Amino acid sequence: MQRLFAGTPWDRPPTCDRCGKPETECDCPPPVAEPKRLPPETQTARVRREKRAKGKLVTVVGNLDPDGNDLAALAAHLKTRCGAGGTVKDGLIEIQGDHLAAIESALRILGYKTRTS
Ligand SMILES: [Zn+2]
Repeated sequence: MQRLFAGTPWDRPPTCDRCGKPETECDCPPPVAEPKRLPPETQTARVRREKRAKGKLVTVVGNLDPDGNDLAALAAHLKTRCGAGGTVKDGLIEIQGDHLAAIESALRILGYKTRTS
């Protein structure tokens, strides 16, 4: 079937937003659904200290679902609160130094339940 604007600059078949190919040639996977976040109130964060190489202490926050929480944003928040560096690794948030009390308090303010062990 001849399209209305065939042969004109408007003759552009619908294209995929992601790969730019015409939709008939696109084989992008279906869009990934936004991860479902969980309310902090339903979660218990486990906060503990761990000793690392050269006796350095880190404070580790675990037991939080990596899909149910924006761990990167949470880590950034905790780093600011503690004035310390940190990282997210394997679903755990690690903050450099001994910040158990500050992290527990920051998490509780956000609504999380906490447990230290
Ligand atoms: Zn595509």
